[in-house]
Amino acid sequence: MSAPRNRQVLLKSRPDGEPTEGNFEIVEGTIPEPAAGQFVARTIYLSLDPYMRGLMNDRESYVEPAKLGEPMPGGAVGQVTRSNHPDYEEGDFVLGDWGWREYGVSDGSGATRKVDPADGPLSYALGVLGMPGMTAYTGLLNLGRPEPGETVVVAAASGAVGSVVGQVGKIKGCRVVGIAGGERKCRYVADELGFDACLDHREPDLPGRLKAACPDGIDVYFENVGGPVFDAVLPLLNRFARVPVCGLVAQYNATELPPGPDRVPLLMQEILVKRLAFEGFIVWDFADQWEEFVADMGGWVRDGLVKYREDVTDGLENAPRQLIGLLKGENFGKKIIRVGADPTPPGRA
Ligand code: NDP
Repeated sequence: MSAPRNRQVLLKSRPDGEPTEGNFEIVEGTIPEPAAGQFVARTIYLSLDPYMRGLMNDRESYVEPAKLGEPMPGGAVGQVTRSNHPDYEEGDFVLGDWGWREYGVSDGSGATRKVDPADGPLSYALGVLGMPGMTAYTGLLNLGRPEPGETVVVAAASGAVGSVVGQVGKIKGCRVVGIAGGERKCRYVADELGFDACLDHREPDLPGRLKAACPDGIDVYFENVGGPVFDAVLPLLNRFARVPVCGLVAQYNATELPPGPDRVPLLMQEILVKRLAFEGFIVWDFADQWEEFVADMGGWVRDGLVKYREDVTDGLENAPRQLIGLLKGENFGKKIIRVGADPTPPGRA
């Protein structure tokens, strides 16, 4: 009988612009042995997230660059197969950051924690009940500070973060307008998630359509994408509008600044005249709000106030292709790779 393998996806080279599958390499390694204070877990679900594009650059950012020749970093949910760690037992489900591999080793540090299947499908720990959900919740509530009756706009509105931003905006009594790529996503956002409107950014005249959808202007713009969507939003921002700057996925593959006139003076003028509050944030800036997030979001998901969609692809070998697609809007919902069998019964939550 052959020894069990431990397939891994390594970062082979750094992309120039859009990544290609050639930037990655799939290799087989051995399953690690847990040293004292460590456990080994079998990966069940791997999270794909836009920030992974930044990991592929050799540039200082808010994330450490991935190392060439090593597995791509990333969040995963797995099941402990062997443990020399006092807090983790064989069979426990865990969230960890061992990256793109079938078996990972952990000492329980960092973001590692147990996942209770009673809280919902295991993969939710990578989405609505994990980092992306926490991003939406903390960014909107701390920096967006939405008041009842105000207008909230968010793009990538069918995705992991944007879908939650809009639904929390509705819970807080706001008018919520989403922006998404394509008619199918827009229909889902408006009809199933209950946004007041959703506009397709691929159709012509986004500025005109956004103006019509926001007759009272925009009080909170949750920035996920940048690019032409931001250009459409800026003139509609009301006095004292808040702009949590969460992500700029439209420009992650860019290798140079966009052509055209320098618009920084216009932006600065708008910030001054309208007293706009732009604030960048990283989810873990609000790490101390984790318990509050889990209590609120867990309840909203259980009560059906926050709906959540996943886009699951089987097979670790498909992670590179799927990450490339995620950066272009090919995903429809939170992108998850199912790496191995999920032993929990389906259909909870
Ligand atoms: P999504 O599930 O929303 O997937 C990314 C989506 O971005 C695509 O589906 C696509 O949606 C949209 N998109 C891609 N290119 C463009 C473009 N050129 N113009 C407009 N939209 C585009 O990803 P997440 O929900 O995980 O992440 C959303 C944002 O939040 C990202 O910018 C990410 O980096 C950021 N983020 C920030 C964190 C922080 O701590 N600050 C933490 C987590 C996420 P569509 O087809 O609808 O256009």
